[in-house]
Amino acid sequence: MNRVHNFFAGPAALPLEVIQEAQKELLDFQGSGMSIMEMSHRSKTYDNVIETARKDILELLNLTDDHTVMFLGGGASTQFAMIPYNFLKEGATAEYIDTGTWSTKAIKEAKKMGNTKVIASSEDKGFSYIPRDLQIDENAAYLHYTSNNTIKGTQFHFIPEAGNVPLICDMSSDFMSREMDYSKFSLIYAGAQKNIGPAGVCVVVMKNSMLERSRGADLFTMLNYKTHVDKKSMFNTPPAFPVYMVGLVMKWLKRYGGVAEIEKVNNRKAKLIYDLFDNSDGFFRATAAEDSRSKMNVTFRLPTEELEAKAIADATEKGFLGLKGHRSVGGMRASIYNAVPYESVEALADFLTDFQKNNG
Ligand SMILES: *Cc1c(COP(=O)(O)O)cnc(C)c1O
Repeated sequence: MNRVHNFFAGPAALPLEVIQEAQKELLDFQGSGMSIMEMSHRSKTYDNVIETARKDILELLNLTDDHTVMFLGGGASTQFAMIPYNFLKEGATAEYIDTGTWSTKAIKEAKKMGNTKVIASSEDKGFSYIPRDLQIDENAAYLHYTSNNTIKGTQFHFIPEAGNVPLICDMSSDFMSREMDYSKFSLIYAGAQKNIGPAGVCVVVMKNSMLERSRGADLFTMLNYKTHVDKKSMFNTPPAFPVYMVGLVMKWLKRYGGVAEIEKVNNRKAKLIYDLFDNSDGFFRATAAEDSRSKMNVTFRLPTEELEAKAIADATEKGFLGLKGHRSVGGMRASIYNAVPYESVEALADFLTDFQKNNG
C-alpha cells in the first residue's frame, strides 16, 4: 500500500483507520448481507447509524439535547441561502463579517433575501486578516461569520461577542478541530468534506430555540429547517453513505480522545510549519497576518512563481499532494486537517527545509 501525504483542501484526507473500517464492512454491513449503501434508510440498522452519529456529534461538541443535528444535501453552499431564507424577516437586518470567498458568497445570497449589512471586512488587505472591530446591532436577525477561510488561510481565534443576537457560523474547514464553547452558536454548519468526512453531506447543528425565529410555515419544504428538525433528517432520503462515514470519523475522534486531544496535535502541526517559515529568512512567507493564521489551511508564498511551480512539482514527485494554492490566489497551501497525521506534516517540513537548501 502506497498512501500519499495528502494536503488537499477538500475533499481531503480521511483517517486511514476509518477507510479500512468502511472497507471491512463494505460488502456485508454488520451481518445484514448487504452494504450500507443498499439498505433502506428507514431500516433499524440504518436508524442506529444516523442516530449514533448524531449523538456522537453532540457529545464531541459538549452540547445537550437543546440542539438538533441535521444531515443535509446541497453542501455548505446551500446553507448560504437557507439561513437568510429561514431567518431574515422583512424589515430586519442580517449582519455579516466578510473574510472573503465563502463569507462573500454567503452575503451575496442573503442580499437576495433582504436587508444585509457587512459590519466588518478584511477586503482592504486582500482578506489576509481577521477583523476585530465588530459593532453588532442588538436587533440584528443574526450575525454570520466564517470561522476559517480555507482559501485565504485565515482563522478566527476568538468567538465574536454577539450578546443576544443569534450567532451563525460556517465552520466547514475547521469544524471539530479545537475546543470552544459551541453552545454560544445558534447555528453551525459544515460541509463534511474538509474536516469530518467525505463530500455529500453538510452537518448543521442548530439550537432548537432558533426555530422560533423562523419566517414561518410557508417556506419551501426542503429548504425549511423545521422539516429536517421534525423529521430528523429523514423527510427525504438522507445522504446515507456520507452520513455513515461521518459517523465513523466521529467514533475515530472519540477514540482519539475527543476535540481537546486533536486540538493539541493540530497546534503542534501548525507550529511546526509556521516556525519553519518564520525561521526561513523570508524564503517561505505565510500570506495571513500573524494573529489570523489558520491552523487548518497554511497558505504561503515562495520568492518567485517559478520556485513555487518547482516546489509543487518536486513535492508531487516525492508523494506530497495538494500543495497548490487555490486557483483564485495562487501560491501554495498545505491543508492540515484533523486526519492529516503529525508524521505527514513533519515529512513536509523536512521536504521544505531541503527545498530551501537546494534552491534558496
Ligand atoms: C468548501 C467550503 C464551502 C463550500 O462547501 P460546499 O460543500 O462545496 O458547498 C463553504 N465554506 C467553507 C468555509 C468552505 O471551506
